[in-house]
Amino acid sequence: MSKDVKFDIVVIGGGISGTMAAIASARQGSKTLLIDRYGALGGMATSGLVQPITTWGINDSYVISGTGKKILENMASKHDQAATAMSTYGPTCDAEYLKKELEDIAIENGVSLLYHTWVRSVEMKSTDVISHITAFSKNGDFNIYGKVFIDATADGDICAFAGVPFESSEDSEGQQAMTLMMIVSGIDQDRILDREKMQEIWDKHRVNSRQLTLFWHPRKGSTYVNMTSISSLNGLDPTDLTKATIECRKQAWDILDVFRNYMPGFENAYIEQTAPTLGIRETRRIKGQYILSADDILSGREFNDSIARASCPIDIHPRNNEPAVYQVLKKSYSIPYRALITNEISNLIATGRCISTDQEAHSSVRRMGPGFALGEAAGIAAALALENNDVRNISINQLQTILKSYNGII
Ligand SMILES: Cc1cc2nc3c(=O)[nH]c(=O)nc-3n(C[C@H](O)[C@H](O)[C@H](O)COP(=O)(O)OP(=O)(O)OC[C@H]3O[C@@H](n4cnc5c(N)ncnc54)[C@H](O)[C@@H]3O)c2cc1C
Repeated sequence: MSKDVKFDIVVIGGGISGTMAAIASARQGSKTLLIDRYGALGGMATSGLVQPITTWGINDSYVISGTGKKILENMASKHDQAATAMSTYGPTCDAEYLKKELEDIAIENGVSLLYHTWVRSVEMKSTDVISHITAFSKNGDFNIYGKVFIDATADGDICAFAGVPFESSEDSEGQQAMTLMMIVSGIDQDRILDREKMQEIWDKHRVNSRQLTLFWHPRKGSTYVNMTSISSLNGLDPTDLTKATIECRKQAWDILDVFRNYMPGFENAYIEQTAPTLGIRETRRIKGQYILSADDILSGREFNDSIARASCPIDIHPRNNEPAVYQVLKKSYSIPYRALITNEISNLIATGRCISTDQEAHSSVRRMGPGFALGEAAGIAAALALENNDVRNISINQLQTILKSYNGII
């Protein structure tokens, strides 16, 4: 694809949330294009090697279900190396299985995929309507026209290009620490110590301030390691991203050394892979029609225009070397549709990490369980908006009814 193209719905960003949005809009019968700068779906979950996919419930009852839960249950039932069993905490998936599964489901539902393409700007038809986006590829620039656009870039790129206001490190309290994830394999899992003893060893030999954070891969002998960390950098700045990648890769090897030298069962461990892309927890948060707040999520607030629920803890990793904040929620909260749409643009919906929240609420909602549910809602909403080309003027009732028909919990 290098000539200008036209779709009903254009989803930019094939992470969990964008993929779910594209599947849901295509399933509603809309001609849907899903674009990603990388060559796979899943975003952080696959190219970032971020696992497990959490948090689906509270006190053993699910607060998120819908198509996302079904996808993960199917994966676990297909092969024991694909994913651990679904639970209210959430499964750990093999990134390669997940890439293939998401791609298959997107294609089955009629989504057109376009990889290896960066979206770099937005052209307006009028002050509040996007005409098209401009993408660049090895073949040069080309335009992609759409009736409704979904920003699933995690960084809110499309919203920012279209002039939607947002918060980022400049006007909040600094972005959370970044982490380069890795898979360590070759572990004799039958000989490893219990978690407390491993933590004691790590405390004695630690190479950074992270706690011992391992998530066992569905394949025995391998683990996802979430232990590199660097803060006080900007996740939108390529110089900072380069610095973070180099520093975290160094830490990855130092961490491996500690494991090999001091942890029983890890003597022959090796780095199977560091993630192809750095793990970014926070950049832009758009200021949408409603800004979901810490108060809302701590009080378990109910919204009439709820399109999803979540119960993930407040989980703020160190910002500017401030200590981390972790607070478990007592009950779930609802997420209003208004946090996905803007006052400024009539044909733009945001989903995933960049939706409209304050920093505390963001640290809960950014997880991938909510990402599945938000994406499904965004995709259906975009399809409904094709009737009058205004995402701010759809029937919330109809959206909620369709979500429930796919077992969505609102
Ligand atoms: C280190 C780390 C650990 C985490 N731990 C957990 C955890 O244990 N459990 C959990 O559930 N969540 C966890 N999270 C949070 C979670 O992984 C992310 O917040 C979530 O995956 C974001 O999903 P998304 O769909 O919004 O965006 P992403 O997964 O980031 O996807 C965005 C996609 O958009 C594409 N893109 C971006 N800009 C453009 C552009 N301009 N043009 C074309 N394509 C573009 C990217 O290539 C990417 O594929 C963690 C995050 C990190 C970084």
